[in-house]
Amino acid sequence: MPRSDSDVTDVVVVGAGFTGIYMTHKLRELGFSVLGIERAAGVGGTWYWNRYPGLRCDVESLDYSYSFDDDIQQEWEWTEKFPAQPDILKYLEFVANKLSVNELFRFNTEVTGAAWDERSASWTIDVSPGDSVRARFVVWGTGILSTPKIPDIPGMETFGGELLTTATWPHSPVSFAGKRVAVLGTGSSGIQVIPIAAESAEHLFVLQRTPSFSLPAHNKPLTPERIAEVKNDYATYRANARASGLGCVTESVGKSFAELGEEQARAELEKTYAYGSPMRFASTMTDIPVDPESNRFTSEFAKAKIRERVGDDALAEKLLPNHYITTRRLCIDTNYYETFRRENVTLVDLREEPLVRLTPTGFETSAGSYDVDMFVLATGFDAVTGTLTRLNIEGRDGLKLADKWGESPACYLGVAVAGFPNMFVATGPASPAPLSNVVVSIEIHVEWIARMLNDLREQGIHVFEPTEAAEQEWVAHTNDITDQTLMRFSDSWYVGSNVSGKPRVQMVYLGGVAPYESALLDVADDNYRGFTLTK
Ligand code: NAP
Repeated sequence: MPRSDSDVTDVVVVGAGFTGIYMTHKLRELGFSVLGIERAAGVGGTWYWNRYPGLRCDVESLDYSYSFDDDIQQEWEWTEKFPAQPDILKYLEFVANKLSVNELFRFNTEVTGAAWDERSASWTIDVSPGDSVRARFVVWGTGILSTPKIPDIPGMETFGGELLTTATWPHSPVSFAGKRVAVLGTGSSGIQVIPIAAESAEHLFVLQRTPSFSLPAHNKPLTPERIAEVKNDYATYRANARASGLGCVTESVGKSFAELGEEQARAELEKTYAYGSPMRFASTMTDIPVDPESNRFTSEFAKAKIRERVGDDALAEKLLPNHYITTRRLCIDTNYYETFRRENVTLVDLREEPLVRLTPTGFETSAGSYDVDMFVLATGFDAVTGTLTRLNIEGRDGLKLADKWGESPACYLGVAVAGFPNMFVATGPASPAPLSNVVVSIEIHVEWIARMLNDLREQGIHVFEPTEAAEQEWVAHTNDITDQTLMRFSDSWYVGSNVSGKPRVQMVYLGGVAPYESALLDVADDNYRGFTLTK
């Protein structure tokens, strides 16, 4: 039976992470009826699921937080320079309570698909178990890192020990004490859990295929003076972050390698290295992401630091990355390289001895077998598009998002998709979100989406959809920018190459957060240029 129009919500927002919390609040404020849907039991998004020991954000807490409500930013007290996962989760619960958005959400409810109905100009969103809701608009706030990538390792089902994934860590405490533990993966997640596991494991095997660049976080408690310094003029601090390339204040000298010269460049790198922040380090010189010489100098600086920290040249050699620095995620750590000095830690270099299979008692490489009690997958995510391509999302004329993005993840302005009317993808492909302080990128998207919905309502417009031409133009623009950077040479989740069968396409807008927001606002000011708008 078709439902009556009163069953149709104005906007369904999927996901209760940073995006969903703010989006539902903002839309309710504007007088829209809103329904949030979230598969977890509570808010938090990626910070709800990722709970492995050692997890911290690599953006500083005073930056990695909402700016839209001064009461919230003044009231909440961060305690450490880099926030730990439990603190971020508590923060999001605090914000959700303060804004009373929990009442807008259906928790423990998984979206399985969504279909556009041309006749009623609405979406039917299928939710488990066996229910559906209708909405005029859908906002996917499902995030960029929400679907773990589980590698297809032969024999995984035969492993008799504890098999854990960092991205879906158990909610009850996990003990490494006295166990023989293997961690597969040395990206941001692996690099954080490895030093913690090493502290109590009987033995830890670090299975590394591709080394990352990592810097010491120099995490520390926040002093009352530092908190006051920022909070006394938070508005200016936030405005500077939003006007920057990375959505973060970096205090860069703003000069290229050639302008600084080697001696000054080294001094500046020492400064940002000592500060401890990937964004500051990456911004030490303006041309690190684009100029091979500047990048090589920075890479050599970082490699020398790794050698010092490892304290064993032969071992350090195996831990040294060979990609252009900053073209894959630049990690931060606490004691990562020092961990390899421990007697109970062994680096298993999978480039020398590839992983063959898991066995009932451990794992096997081409060089032999290892007995372990626990095997931890820190193998990353099917990032940016992986969550939505797993859902059955059907747009105009039966077009499936999985088919469209299976060929190439095209997205207009990183926020809307041709063939999928009345649908927004917050932090979608070709937005700056993955390489920015993502909270700033999210605020930009939420505010822009809210403005668009409000503007369309005022104009009596019921259906919007980006044109293919506008979408292709944005994709081409994103690719043109990438082609000017060294990132075109590197494989990573930014380009989808970590997942087999996924198209290798740049999924990050590298033009910077501030220029990106200008482009969005320009489109809005021009009455949503590139969209067809139907009354
Ligand atoms: P990741 O950066 O994609 O790293 C995954 C690791 O697993 C890589 O070392 C990868 O090696 C390895 N791997 C995957 N499949 C493998 C296989 N079949 N065999 C051997 N090795 C395999 O994932 P992540 O560490 O979860 O981080 C993802 C992103 O999440 C980060 O870039 C960051 O944006 C975010 N994150 C941030 C923080 C933080 O803020 N501190 C913490 C965690 C995550 P290959 O490269 O050779 O495939």
